[in-house]
Amino acid sequence: MAQGRLAGLNSLITGAGRGIGAGIARRFAREGAAVLLNARTEADLVRLQREIVDADGQAWFVPADIGTASGVQQVLDACAHGPGHIDILVHNAGIYPFAQIEQLSDDTWQQTLDINLTSAFRLTRGLVPGMRERRFGRLLFTSSVTGNRVAVPGAAHYAASKAGLNGFIRSAALEFAADGVTVNGVEPGLVETPGALSITTEEERASMARFVPMRRWGTPEDIAGAMLYLASRDAGYITGQTLVVDGGALLPENGAVMLQHT
Ligand code: NAD
Repeated sequence: MAQGRLAGLNSLITGAGRGIGAGIARRFAREGAAVLLNARTEADLVRLQREIVDADGQAWFVPADIGTASGVQQVLDACAHGPGHIDILVHNAGIYPFAQIEQLSDDTWQQTLDINLTSAFRLTRGLVPGMRERRFGRLLFTSSVTGNRVAVPGAAHYAASKAGLNGFIRSAALEFAADGVTVNGVEPGLVETPGALSITTEEERASMARFVPMRRWGTPEDIAGAMLYLASRDAGYITGQTLVVDGGALLPENGAVMLQHT
């Protein structure tokens, strides 16, 4: 019998091939949850599943594009064939392609909304009936401070998708609250992941870290810790909330405050 804070619970984690999603999957498996891993790149999923199983965890994987209706259906089918049912969804898959509004194509706008936001609705619609029936469920989403608390030039489409996600979280929380299904999110600040590394240089990352009160980028483990709490039975009376995990980055009244305190 698995031990840990998520013992006996089945989870589905999207975007679990690398970065934040892989960090959440590793932590959930260590805490006794069975994990169904989704991402686009099969090789990443094979590697992580093996790592979890080698450490005596339980894991399955399903490569699929969560930004399409058929991809979501593939994932929902895999839930039935693998763990059987899902108690905890962590919808974490997301993209953040940069483009200023005047150069932003319809395709990039739509793809960003499809992967980051529409998928949240489709996964929730597919999983919530079973959760309601069992009178237990955790629907968790990786949102962002971007779009909800702050903005970045070149990320209007991304900001819109993550602000939409927070609106979805609050509405869904109300619909499901009476049946023991909670809906919450985490809003990461800067997190060092393969995706973030691919769009920044080491020098840029170091200069951005100077504006973070904790003087460092977050790690996937930092986000996994927050997700673990929200997924656990301890968080049973929390719903419709998003938790900022940013090393204090949003606190300074002005960026210059941080530079003066080096
Ligand atoms: P990443 O690019 O390092 O990893 C993303 C993972 O998601 C990969 O495994 C990829 O295969 C998967 N993925 C992407 N599109 C997919 C699709 N259509 N279908 C299925 N899987 C897909 O990204 P990350 O930095 O770990 O980001 C994870 C989440 O955290 C995203 O939602 C992102 O918006 C959010 N976030 C990241 C940061 C950060 O600084 N890294 C900050 C705030 C929010």
